[in-house]
Amino acid sequence: MHPTAPYVVPWKEETLPDLDTMVGSFGVAYTNPLHDTFQRDKDGILWAVCEGTRTGGPAYARELHPHRQREAMERLLCAGCSGPPARDERGMLWVLPLLDDGDDPGWHCVRTVIPPMCEPCKTKATEACPWLRDGHVELRVKEAEKIGVRGTLYPLPGVEDEPDPDALVLFNTPEEGRVIARQLVRELREVTVIAVRRSTP
Ligand SMILES: [Zn+2]
Repeated sequence: MHPTAPYVVPWKEETLPDLDTMVGSFGVAYTNPLHDTFQRDKDGILWAVCEGTRTGGPAYARELHPHRQREAMERLLCAGCSGPPARDERGMLWVLPLLDDGDDPGWHCVRTVIPPMCEPCKTKATEACPWLRDGHVELRVKEAEKIGVRGTLYPLPGVEDEPDPDALVLFNTPEEGRVIARQLVRELREVTVIAVRRSTP
């Protein structure tokens, strides 16, 4: 194991194979029925297939690893060590990169693919992860509802558009049958801002 690589970060030799898909009135499915069966979650959402091994070093520039991100986000495990995240009376600890616009967005109802963290992993992640090193906010969150997924959204059958490679698809919408998900999204509510750090020296 890399000493500082968080659990949810993909490694360079982990890949997402480009599998054949089909789109119909049912939505999107893998052409191989085995992939389709194993990659569909209990809510019927289809997930990306991951291959490879955790070797070659962490690849911070990419999305979080789809299977480990989903596991950590679904079960509310620490993004760094997959143990229990920090909790106190203000809620669970979340550490997020600052948004590009530079202004304080208020953070209430912010939607994120990053799972919560424990205190030791907060320190490690803000030193190791380039997304957080350049500035981050530390939040305490009382409520974090699962609201949808990010992934590739396929067009309706008969529509000639290209798939949208990075769409946010909310649960219980018609689009959820046409997405191959790579990240589970939660919306953070009842948020207390603990600290905003513009950069870590
Ligand atoms: Zn941790």
